[in-house]
Amino acid sequence: MQNNAVKKVVIAGGGTAGWVAAAALSKKLGELVDVVLVESEQIGTVGVGEATIPPMRVFHSLIGVDEQEFMRATEAVFKLGISFKNWGQVGDEYFHPFGTTGQSSFLADFQHFWLYGKSKGIDAGFGEYNLEAQAALANKFATSKNGRINFAYHLDATRYAQYLRQFSEKLGAKRIEGKIQNVQQHENGDIKALELESGEVVEGDLFIDCTGFTGLLIDKTLNVPFEDWSHWLPCNSAIAVQTESVEPAKPYVTCTAHQAGWQWHIPLQHRVGNGNVFCSEFMSDEQAKQHLLDNVQGKVLTEPRVIKYKTGRRKVFWSRNCVALGLSSGFVEPLESTSIYLFMIGVTRLMKIFPFHGITQTAIDEYNRQAIAELENVRDFIVLHYHATEREDSEFWRYCKNMDVPDSLTHRIELFRENGLAFQGDQEMFRLESWTHVMLGQGITPKRYHSIFSTMSDEELVGHLSNTRNTIAEAVSKMPNHQEFVNHYCKAT
Ligand code: FAD
Repeated sequence: MQNNAVKKVVIAGGGTAGWVAAAALSKKLGELVDVVLVESEQIGTVGVGEATIPPMRVFHSLIGVDEQEFMRATEAVFKLGISFKNWGQVGDEYFHPFGTTGQSSFLADFQHFWLYGKSKGIDAGFGEYNLEAQAALANKFATSKNGRINFAYHLDATRYAQYLRQFSEKLGAKRIEGKIQNVQQHENGDIKALELESGEVVEGDLFIDCTGFTGLLIDKTLNVPFEDWSHWLPCNSAIAVQTESVEPAKPYVTCTAHQAGWQWHIPLQHRVGNGNVFCSEFMSDEQAKQHLLDNVQGKVLTEPRVIKYKTGRRKVFWSRNCVALGLSSGFVEPLESTSIYLFMIGVTRLMKIFPFHGITQTAIDEYNRQAIAELENVRDFIVLHYHATEREDSEFWRYCKNMDVPDSLTHRIELFRENGLAFQGDQEMFRLESWTHVMLGQGITPKRYHSIFSTMSDEELVGHLSNTRNTIAEAVSKMPNHQEFVNHYCKAT
């Protein structure tokens, strides 16, 4: 490894990952390092990735993105959660909302309280204690000064990359158009430069691989192995299509399971993004395309496009003087929309331990340790959706229901089933409530709850639970319609 100070960062690839990295580095470290991005219009980007999660707002605030400007530029709407249909059983439906659910006590989280209420005949659903779920299902939205409502966005992926490009270029990031045809290495194996088809050679000290599934640097050049997760996450294909909107945009994504995977519906201001995620072992591309087209509403605006992928991760994300961000580093699944945020936190982590004075193996190891722990938590959460099913109506679901899962996930499921306990792990983006909503939503019911609540009188219990529901219902009744809120908010300057 060249132990030189890093003065120039070269980003290979200009999809969402490349421009997120460029935006963060030029905003935060632009006075200390040069930022150069190489991308090829001829190759293009994956062009999907339109649903996000709330911590994205933390990243936006870190780099100073103006929300109204960003929403106008990307035709974005607000997202309050995800509606899951047909996951536990065909015909089932549950909502995984953002935000807090009920009130936890110091000793026990809200699900214990809710379970105790149920045992006493209080039959309200778990989601009735969540403001975001109730607002979403009523198609309502409002931001509040105290920040009580928690939200993310649906956005147009191509426009988002363009928006971040302008943002980064204004801050001094340099863009070079061209196809990388060779990667030059130093004698010790570190990356020295990108050689473009035009003959231009782009040298750098630190390289960020954002070349998507190609993994031109981390895979094709440094040969970092890939850890395959398809035995846990067997879906390996998607078909995406855009359609005209036929109704006001809902503030949530809908994920509807089918015989060999699931379909997404992501409303934006100007259109709807749709996609069918499936396992090619159980559904052909042609069947998947037909299924998708049979289940979209509104005029189809684009040719259905097949995307093939393998779930898993690079053994390490940072190797030598190359950090992989985005699809080049691995891919879990589109379900729960984690990818964009993973590279936002990836570049933030990199900036925190940035090798201004030279790259050290200890910094590399720590970066990899944190990033791997985080991705494995995401993996477990996604596997949960497939594994915790009662569906036996197709070979795909029988496989998912009966497959072995990571020990870390078995532990979480057992802990919840036996004791009603959930937790947010170290380096984990999903809060314990996310786990609780999905486990309850897919039929994992705890055998017992914490006894602390049984010290309450029935009157106190009923009063407390109904007060919580009433407060939420009243807040929702005062909120404007989501589409009207977006129209007004995005017009205002
Ligand atoms: P890409 O968009 O593929 O960009 C690669 C870049 O590298 C391009 O600019 C390309 O031109 C350049 N490049 C490649 N080779 C060369 C070369 N030789 N020379 C020069 N340039 C080169 N994420 C979410 O957060 N939410 C979602 O809802 C979501 N849904 C998804 C659905 C599907 C089906 C898939 C597959 C992914 C989804 N993702 C989602 C993930 C998300 O799309 C990606 O993480 C995100 O778009 C980042 O992609 P990328 O920038 O890594 O790669």
